[in-house]
Amino acid sequence: MDKPIENYWRIRLAEIKKALESNNFEVHLAETASDAKRIAMEEILPATGARRISWGGSMTFTATGLYKTLKDSTDFEILDTSDKTVPPEEFAERRRQALLVDLFITGTNAVTESGALVNLDMQGNRVGAIAYGPKHVLVLAGRNKICDDLDEAMMRIKNYAAPANAMRLDKKTPCVKTSYCEECSSPDRICNVWTITEKSFPKGRIKVVLINEDLGL
Ligand code: SF4
Repeated sequence: MDKPIENYWRIRLAEIKKALESNNFEVHLAETASDAKRIAMEEILPATGARRISWGGSMTFTATGLYKTLKDSTDFEILDTSDKTVPPEEFAERRRQALLVDLFITGTNAVTESGALVNLDMQGNRVGAIAYGPKHVLVLAGRNKICDDLDEAMMRIKNYAAPANAMRLDKKTPCVKTSYCEECSSPDRICNVWTITEKSFPKGRIKVVLINEDLGL
């Protein structure tokens, strides 16, 4: 068989799609990051009618090319919460205003086999937007985010995603040295707010694109 790994995940992601749909998420399957971008730009964005768009920090969002396309776009009103060149007060205000946009784009730390999204934030701006506020939420998820259940999802996040993110962000936390979580009390601690999104309410508010590639942390 050609490309057995892609084939394996194609079958598995189709099952995850069914589980997410049974939990009222709208779900799209993408073979690649650029395919995910096409689906977002040609199908999801037009269907929402979104004019005001923002996002949370996400390596997957950047990898799809959506970040570059949207931040340079004049077709939408963009609230760029990734631009660290703006003064701190404006940066914080943009993150607050992002809670009221038409469409909020984000990654996810984990997707369970039962069709739930599991996330852990430092400030809560990303999980806050997933939970409530933006009219529509677009979640981009690489196949590496799939976990058997909630226990595995939380283990993955605390002992892989969070330490790796702390390293990426040059945080001064113990996990940067040890690679695993030590439940720190560091001022730089990035693990403060959990969300488990068991279902999308209203139905279809959260759209998930499952991507048949390893993307993000
Ligand atoms: S709680 Fe602290 S040590 Fe644990 S993963 Fe988060 S930042 Fe690292």
